[in-house]
Amino acid sequence: MLPKLIKYLLKEAPQSQDTEVHGWVRTKRDTKNLIFIEVYDGSCFDGIQCTFDRSAGLNGKTEALLDSLTTGASVKIKGKLISSPACGQAVEVAASELFVFGEAPAETIGDIQGYPLQKKRHSLEFLREIAHLRPRTNTFGAVARLRSRLAFAVHRYFIERDFHYLHTPIITSGDCEGAGAMFSVSTPDPKEFFGKKTFLTVSGQLEAETYAAAISRVYTFGPTFRAENSNTARHLAEFWMVEPEAAFAGLEENMELAEDFLKYMFNSVLEECPDELAFFDEYVEKGIIENLKNVAAAKFSHITYTDAVKELEKAHSANKGLFEFEPRWGCDLQSEHEKFLTEKTAGGPVIVTDYPKEIKAFYMKLNDDGKTVRAMDVLVPRLGEIIGGSQREDDLNKLMARMAEMNIEPQDYWWYLDLRRYGSVPHSGFGLGFERLIQYVCGMANIRDVIPFPRAAGQAEF
Ligand code: ATP
Ligand code: MN
Repeated sequence: MLPKLIKYLLKEAPQSQDTEVHGWVRTKRDTKNLIFIEVYDGSCFDGIQCTFDRSAGLNGKTEALLDSLTTGASVKIKGKLISSPACGQAVEVAASELFVFGEAPAETIGDIQGYPLQKKRHSLEFLREIAHLRPRTNTFGAVARLRSRLAFAVHRYFIERDFHYLHTPIITSGDCEGAGAMFSVSTPDPKEFFGKKTFLTVSGQLEAETYAAAISRVYTFGPTFRAENSNTARHLAEFWMVEPEAAFAGLEENMELAEDFLKYMFNSVLEECPDELAFFDEYVEKGIIENLKNVAAAKFSHITYTDAVKELEKAHSANKGLFEFEPRWGCDLQSEHEKFLTEKTAGGPVIVTDYPKEIKAFYMKLNDDGKTVRAMDVLVPRLGEIIGGSQREDDLNKLMARMAEMNIEPQDYWWYLDLRRYGSVPHSGFGLGFERLIQYVCGMANIRDVIPFPRAAGQAEF
């Protein structure tokens, strides 16, 4: 049987019952007769205090182990669960026996570094260099627990709404989706193996469309890859994307779904991770709980790209120093523009729609104006784009014309075009960057700190 986790031990009624604690030593404090050991196991923030009383007579083995015990060592401690005389904790363990699984010497001995996580605050930059040990800190333990709850909430949200979880391939052959530079897949003989060039996927959307056109509603949730050499706090080379795709849905339904889904995510963490959020609120981003509650309760603003650019131009002509990049119709919104739209224009999340076709992917549905497409980006304060989506072009001729304009070979997408040949339906979907969602709900400034093992330009250790 698996041992009882500390989060449950801390909630048990103390009746001097026999108890075993499994975990790692956070601190050791020694007085004349009493030795206090705080043990944690990452199931929650708090550790449990285990108190050894020398005057009560400890066995020789335990005495010796206690003497050499250091922060980071893994232990099993046996004793009785009693109510704690100390303040700030309801229970503690009156400990009698200590077993050490693995030591964690603090001193550097020869080539072996001393255990790097001592009881002080380490910088996030330093912790990134020890990504294999950082989950033992409060911050990264909390991110890991929150990420896991949030992933489960993603599945719950869609499964409960009749979206089927679809597994799309990681190795693909399409390379002109316009989502970003691709990593190519190498094989000893690339020609021989697949018979064509292959890449790591940038999105499961095109494949998801095929299943939406068959079982109505699907979503994917998996790793995606972009070989972008941008060294920003919100881009990774490998990140997780959530991509719902629904048949018989236009841009309006797509926006509703995106807003409802995001709010469900916010409410899920508010309900399921109150301790983690309290921690982030105190140490990472003040006011984040209040902010999540407000955002979950308020309607998202909507604005067309054209109106958004007007707002930006107005702000720019009033204050020439405001933006580094001049806002102009036809150009992509820069992150400073996104920041302005969320923080100044909308004062919260905003959905920008109907972008110029030139700056969006070939598959987005053309509006009647012939210039803009039924695209939507959900922008949030602090981060900018968190979701990108669109209604898809379901008209074969318009799609072919668009591909021709963009020099995309129709034969490379024959199967995708078939969806427009046989039983074509209006359909829509979006992609949410899962790490950006985590960044938004916990306030971590750098995307590399919300994924266990970040992959970015120059970074593939661990
Ligand atoms: P951005 O403009 O922020 O680079 P994008 O428009 O290239 O993003 P999309 O192709 O629309 O991104 O992808 C859908 C979502 O995936 C984005 O809204 C974002 O949340 C997330 N995303 C995109 N690129 C990355 C990346 N390199 N690392 C992490 N998340 C990403
Ligand atoms: Mn986008």
